[in-house]
Amino acid sequence: MRRFTGCFLAALLLLGLTACGAKEPESLQVIAMDTSMTFTAYDGEGEEAVSAAGQEVRRLERLLSKTDKESMVSRLNTAGGERVAVGEEVCSLLKAAETYSRATDDTFDITLSPVSSAWGFTTDSFRVPERAELDALLKNVGMGHVSIQGDTASLDAGTQIDLGAIAKGYASDCVAEIFRENGVANGWAALGGNVVALGSRPDGSPWRVGIQDPQKADDPNAFAGMLQLKDAYAVTSGSYQRFFEENGKRYHHILDPATGAPAESGLLSVTVVADDTAGNGTMCDALSTALFVMGEERALNFWRSGAYDFQLVLVTQDGRVVITDGLADTFTSEGDGYVCETVS
Ligand code: AMP
Ligand code: MG
Repeated sequence: MRRFTGCFLAALLLLGLTACGAKEPESLQVIAMDTSMTFTAYDGEGEEAVSAAGQEVRRLERLLSKTDKESMVSRLNTAGGERVAVGEEVCSLLKAAETYSRATDDTFDITLSPVSSAWGFTTDSFRVPERAELDALLKNVGMGHVSIQGDTASLDAGTQIDLGAIAKGYASDCVAEIFRENGVANGWAALGGNVVALGSRPDGSPWRVGIQDPQKADDPNAFAGMLQLKDAYAVTSGSYQRFFEENGKRYHHILDPATGAPAESGLLSVTVVADDTAGNGTMCDALSTALFVMGEERALNFWRSGAYDFQLVLVTQDGRVVITDGLADTFTSEGDGYVCETVS
């Protein structure tokens, strides 16, 4: 069995070069939430901002981690059906998760946690579960097994949650808020595949956010395309970010709640882009996961429905990069081997 573990650092690579003569930016790199994160501030109280951002992601890790036994998520997961006072912040994130599940026809589902564990994605002890095992586990999957009341929550016995598909997006919202509180108008934060780009580069041009070429995941400088963004979130979910191979078949970490198996949707990655309105980091993270499960046609229909305000870059298994028309002026094709299509 070949094993590939850990998140690739450069799901999105942010290129921000300091202009000649401009003030050096304040930058901090931390490992938190199982991810390498970088915070960079070009103005305001930059040092305080990046330091507070580092503390914030560690606080959120302690609150939301599925593997930290002391976290609120772990307490909820091990409460055996009892109600737990998880606090207002966790409850509002659970409510957001519930909303995105409903909006995406349950393709987004935080209660897949036991299924994800059965595949070994929690422990790195990868295995391919039998159909019967998955069917048994799926009985406890679904937001109907989660109850949120005030600042308390409970899970039905057998149900467990994993906020891995939304927590870093939420963290990016919190970091953007900290930047603003510290007067940082120009800067960026990359939390693995979750990027927030505020303002612009020192020369006034947009930030350049590279979309990793999923077929060259080992090369952080291989891009399927480049986005030029100001005041925006960009979040990528991809099958290349975490997977293992057994008997020549690849099994990745984004599961289809309908089957309990890695989503076979014809996509290699989904990037969701939205403006920097508060909460959009969380939205982009939830939607990138959900739309990966949906596949191209459903994802584009969801985008066309206008339920949420965002744009998309889809990299398909058959070698296309599909962008929605709102990105036409900001996206440039990179590398070779992909055919680029703009849809409206
Ligand atoms: P992301 O990288 O944001 O797409 O999140 C992927 C992670 O979320 C996985 O590693 C799992 O922990 C979890 N996950 C997998 N499939 C789903 C799904 N369909 N809905 C919600 N969370 C999921
Ligand atoms: Mg996500």
